[in-house]
Amino acid sequence: MLKSDASDRLTPSDHYTQLRALLREAATLGSVAGLLNWDQETYMPPSAAEHRAAQMAMVAGLVHERRTSPRIGELIAACESSGVAKSDPDGAEAANLRCIRRDYDRATRLPTKLVTELAHTASLSQEAWKNAREKSDFSIFLPWLDKMVGLTRRKAECFGVPAGGELYDALLEEYEPGATAKEIDAIFKPLALRLSTLVQELTAKGKRPDDRFLNVSFAPAGQHEMGQFVLKHMGFDFNAGRLDTTTHPFCSGMAPGDTRLTTRYRGERFADALYGTMHEGGHGLYEQGLPKTGSSSRWGEPLADSTSLGIHESQSRMWENFVGRSREFWEWLLPHARKFSSGALDGFSPEQAYLAANIVTPSHIRVEADEATYNMHVMLRFELERAIFGGGLKVADLPGEWNSRFKRLLGVDVPDHHRGCLQDVHWSFGLIGYFPTYTLGNLYAAQFWETIRSDIPDLDPKMARGEFADLKSWLNDRIHRHGRRFQAGELCQRVTGRPLSSDPLMRHLEGKFKAVYGI
Ligand code: ZN
Repeated sequence: MLKSDASDRLTPSDHYTQLRALLREAATLGSVAGLLNWDQETYMPPSAAEHRAAQMAMVAGLVHERRTSPRIGELIAACESSGVAKSDPDGAEAANLRCIRRDYDRATRLPTKLVTELAHTASLSQEAWKNAREKSDFSIFLPWLDKMVGLTRRKAECFGVPAGGELYDALLEEYEPGATAKEIDAIFKPLALRLSTLVQELTAKGKRPDDRFLNVSFAPAGQHEMGQFVLKHMGFDFNAGRLDTTTHPFCSGMAPGDTRLTTRYRGERFADALYGTMHEGGHGLYEQGLPKTGSSSRWGEPLADSTSLGIHESQSRMWENFVGRSREFWEWLLPHARKFSSGALDGFSPEQAYLAANIVTPSHIRVEADEATYNMHVMLRFELERAIFGGGLKVADLPGEWNSRFKRLLGVDVPDHHRGCLQDVHWSFGLIGYFPTYTLGNLYAAQFWETIRSDIPDLDPKMARGEFADLKSWLNDRIHRHGRRFQAGELCQRVTGRPLSSDPLMRHLEGKFKAVYGI
C-alpha cells in the first residue's frame, strides 16, 4: 500500500519504498509487452499483425509515461538528497539509485510519440522481415528497414552524441552501458587478425575432422525432448519457464517466474538446434538467477535486471561452447542422444562427436557459425551499422555492401539474401548497436571460464557425468544475483581480477582448435 502523496511528511525510506513500488508497476506493465512480443514470435497468426502493432504501440506508450512520470523524478531527487544510499556509496542501494537516475534521465529524453511509433513500426517491420526472409527478397524489407533506421536515428539524436564519441555510441549505451564504438573497434580489429590467422592455419595445415556426426538426421520431436533433457540438467527451471519454436531463437525473461526460451528444428543438422537451445538456456539461467521472485524480489528495479547484453551473452556462449562443445559434455550426452535419435546416432563415439562439434568452416549463418569464425560475422554487422549511422551507407545499398564485405572477411560468396543480410531479426526491431555485444560476450565468457576452472578444479569429471550444479551455483553467486549492481567491466574485474582482454578467448580457441586439427 502506498503512502499519501504528501512528500514532506514522508521519511527518506518512504520515498525509496514509493519509488520502488512505482518502478515495479511500470515493469509489470512492460511485461505485458514482453508477452505480446513472445506470442508474435511464436504462435500469432499472420493476420493479427496490424492489431498486434496497435497493441504494442499502446502498451509501449503507457509504459513510457509511467517510467517518465514527474512523480518518479521527484522521488529520485528526494532519495538523492535525503541520503538513502549515502551511508554506503559502494553498496547495492547506491548502485540501484544511480541506475534508476540514469534510466530516468535517458527515458525522459524520448518523446512518447517516438516511443509508440517505434513500437508500432517494429511490430509491422518484423512481419515484413519474416516474409522477406522466407522469399529471400530484400525489396519487401527495404521500406521497413529504412523506416526503422530513420526512427532509431531519431532516438539516438534524442540521447545525443556523447563527448568525444559518435552517434552510434548513443545506441550502444542502451545495450552495453559505458562502451563506445572506438573502444570496441580497438578490441575487434586485432582480434579479427588473430582469428583469420588461426582459421588460415587450420585450413592450410590441419586435418579437418570427420563431419558425419553432424549430418545425422532425426525427427524434431526427438530433438525437442533432447533439448529439454539438456536444459533440465543445466538447471533450467521448467516450473518457471518454457521452450517453444520460432523463426529466430531468443530468450525472454519477461516476468518473475516466467522465462521463455525458443529454438528452431530441422530434420538434418540436429546439433544446430541443440546448440541454439543450450545458448538460449544460458540466457534463461541468467534471467532465472536474477532476484525477481520471492520475498526479497527486486522486480522492476535495476538490481533485478541484467547488467549488459555482453554479460548476458557471456552466459549463453559459455553453455553453448565451453560446456556444449567439450569432450566431457559428449561423454555424458551421447548415450542419451542415441536414445532421443531413435538409434540414428548409434555407432558414433564421444570423441567423434567432440571433434565434429569443433569443425571450423566459414559459413553464411551467424547463429550456426563455429566458434572461430563467429566473431567475424559480428564484426561485419558492427562495421555496417557504424557505416549506416556515421559513414553515409544507404540502407538500399546494404545487400551489396554485405555481400562484398562478407567475401572479404570470410572468403565465401553469399548465394542469396536469406543467407545474407536478411538472416537476423534484429534490424527489423531497430536493434542497432546490439550485435557487438555478441563478441564482447565471447570475450567475457572465456575470461570467466578461466576463473571457473580454477575455482572448480573437478569441473571436467563433473561435466562428464552431466553434473552442472556447481557451475550453475558459481554463475548464480558471482554473476546473476548482482543484477546491475556492477557495470560489465567492473563485474569482470571483480570476478576475474583483471580487465577484459581478448587473450583468454584466443588461448581457448588456439588451444582447442590446434589440438582438434592435429597441429
Ligand atoms: Zn544470445
